[in-house]
Amino acid sequence: MFNRSRRNLASWFTLTMGSILIMFAAIVYYWEVIDKLEELDRLLYKKTSVMAANVKSELHNSQRQLDLEHVPLLGSMVQPLPDSQLVYASWYDEQKQLVQFFGTIPSDRLSISGGFDTIKTDSDVWLRQVTLPVYQNGSLIGYLQAAMPMTATESALAEFRIVLAISAPITLGVVALTGWWLGGLAMQPIRYNYDHLQRFTADASHELRSPLTAIISNAQYGFLSKTTDLEVQRQRFHKIFDIAKSMSTLVSNLLFLARYQGKLPTESLQVIDFNNLLVQIIDDYATQPDAQHLSLVSKLPNNSITVLGDADLLRQVVINLLNNSCKYTPAGGHVQLQLFTQSRWAVIQIIDNGIGIPEADLPYIFERFYRVDKKRSRQTGGFGLGLAIAQQIIQAHGGKISIKSVFQKGTTLEIALPLIPI
Ligand code: ATP
Ligand code: MG
Repeated sequence: MFNRSRRNLASWFTLTMGSILIMFAAIVYYWEVIDKLEELDRLLYKKTSVMAANVKSELHNSQRQLDLEHVPLLGSMVQPLPDSQLVYASWYDEQKQLVQFFGTIPSDRLSISGGFDTIKTDSDVWLRQVTLPVYQNGSLIGYLQAAMPMTATESALAEFRIVLAISAPITLGVVALTGWWLGGLAMQPIRYNYDHLQRFTADASHELRSPLTAIISNAQYGFLSKTTDLEVQRQRFHKIFDIAKSMSTLVSNLLFLARYQGKLPTESLQVIDFNNLLVQIIDDYATQPDAQHLSLVSKLPNNSITVLGDADLLRQVVINLLNNSCKYTPAGGHVQLQLFTQSRWAVIQIIDNGIGIPEADLPYIFERFYRVDKKRSRQTGGFGLGLAIAQQIIQAHGGKISIKSVFQKGTTLEIALPLIPI
C-alpha cells in the first residue's frame, strides 16, 4: 500500500515537473530561434544598408537618373563585398520594376513593399530575405532586395536542439528519482502513524480479548453447572463484575487517549493553585488501600504556585503517578511528592524507592500498553496506559514529563508546567 502511494506520488511529481520542464525548454528554444533570427536580420540589414548608401540618384529635367555603378555586387565600378554571403541582390525602381540584379534571376516585379521574409528555394535551401525601400532627400528612389542563406542559423539551432534532447531526459530522470525520494520522505510520518495505530489496535484488542474470554468462560460454567450453592454462584458473578469493571476502566482510558489529542482549548483552562490541588490529592490518596503499606510524604512550598490548566486532568496525572509509585514500591517503602519552581516552570516530582525500571525499558515507558513486567502488571491490574495518559495531558498543557529510574533502587517522575507569566 505504501509503495503504491509512493509510486503514485513520484509519478505525479515527475509528470508535473516534467510538463513544467518541457514547457520551459520550449520557451527557451523559442527565444533562441527569435534571437538567432534577429542576429541574422541585423547582419542582412547592415549589408543591404551599405549597398543602398551607394545608390546615386539625380534629377535631370524632372527625370530621375539612377547610378547603380558604385553599388557593391550590383555595380561594375566597385570591388565586390568581401565575404558578402548574399545569394542575390536586386534593385527595383519606385514602380517596383526590376532594374538590375546579382545572383539568382529575380521576378520582374516586386510584390512586397518591405520587411523580412523566410523563403525556401527550389533546391530546398532556406533563405532570409530583406526588402528595403530606399529614400533620398525624403523621396522613394527604389527598392533593394537581398537574401542570405540560413545555414549557420539552422546548424546553431540544430546544435541547441541536440543539447535539449540530451538534457531533457536526463533532467526528467533526476526529477523522477527526486520524486521517489520525496515520496519516501512524505510516506515516513504516515507509515509511522499507521504502524502506531495498528500496534495500538492490536494491543487494545489483545487487552480486551483476555477479560472477554474470562467473562465468557465464567458465564458458560454458570449455565452448565448444576450446583445449588449460592456462595459459588455469587463468587462467579463477583468475578464477572470485577473483569467487566476493569474492562470499563480500559475502555475509558482508551476514550480518554483518543479525546485529548493536541493542545487544550484556552477556554477550558483555569488558574490553578497547585499547592492546594496537591494537598487535596495527598489527603484523598493517603486513605487509599494502595498507600497504606508505605510512607507517603509531601514537600510543598509556602508561597502559592499557580499554573493555567484543567484541574481535573492535572489531578488525574498526579493520581496516575502516585498510583504507580505506590503500586511498584514494596511495603515499608517511601513515596515523596514535592513541588517547587525552576525559572519559568512549576515542577512536581514524585520520588519513590521502589523496584525501579531497567534502563533498557526507559525509552518505551511512555508508550501505550508498555509494561516492564507484563505478568506482574496484569496481577496488579495495570494496562500500561497510566504514563501514556499522563504524558498526553501534560503535553496538552504545554508542559514536559520525564522519568529517571534505577533498577531496584527507585524512580523519580518529574512534571514541569509553564508558570503564569507575571
Ligand atoms: P495502568 O497505569 O494503565 O493501570 P501500568 O501502571 O502498568 O498500568 P503505566 O502507568 O503506563 O502502566 O506504567 C508503565 C510501566 O512502567 C508499568 O507497567 C511499570 O512496569 C513501569 N513503572 C511505572 N512507574 C513505575 C514506578 N514508579 N516504579 C517502577 N516501575 C514503574
Ligand atoms: Mg500506572
